[in-house]
Amino acid sequence: MRLLLLGPPGAGKGTQAARLVEKFGIPQLSTGDMLRAAVKAGTPIGLQAKAVMEAGQLVSDEIVVGIIAGRIEEPDCAKGFILDGFPRTVAQAEALDAMLRDKKMGLDSVVELKVDDTKLLARIENRARETLAAGGTVRADDNADAFKIRLDAYHQQTAPVSNYYAGRGQLKTIDGMAPVEHVSKALDAILAH
Ligand code: ADP
Repeated sequence: MRLLLLGPPGAGKGTQAARLVEKFGIPQLSTGDMLRAAVKAGTPIGLQAKAVMEAGQLVSDEIVVGIIAGRIEEPDCAKGFILDGFPRTVAQAEALDAMLRDKKMGLDSVVELKVDDTKLLARIENRARETLAAGGTVRADDNADAFKIRLDAYHQQTAPVSNYYAGRGQLKTIDGMAPVEHVSKALDAILAH
């Protein structure tokens, strides 16, 4: 199964993706996680991406498309994958289409989690608090200033991606403000079709 999860930062894509990894035994491809790993490892891509990410802006299409193109060739993606955080621009969506076309593959589901802007900052702040309480390190972009820029980037660059898939009749939306179990149920119902 090839699934694409869309939605603003803090919508709960990562939570749902982690559950679906267990359920379907396919990997979660989170460009955010991959980029954070590259920053941590100090790779050339990480060095380029670090400041952009910390500011809450988008890394270049070229970098993330390159990462995903390589990743979906890996053997663990043969049965499918869950894309989380990619595509984030229409150019990335077009690049993904071209990659899948080359492999004679398509997407089985494109699902958007809808959450009001006003709820998102509170979720991010909560995640930061919980991470700290658990002794973890808070993400460099999980603060109010960077979050505002992430949300702006979402509205300007990523919201059009939903229209891109809606225009092709592929987009399904879920209320991401419902409790996690409700969101899980709604998502499972979509995937069962
Ligand atoms: P969230 O889902 O909380 O917005 P992610 O972990 O998906 O955050 O991404 C964190 C940061 O990584 C983004 O703000 C951006 O700088 C970078 N990033 C992740 N995915 C992409 C992408 N597809 N295109 C451009 N930048 C990306």
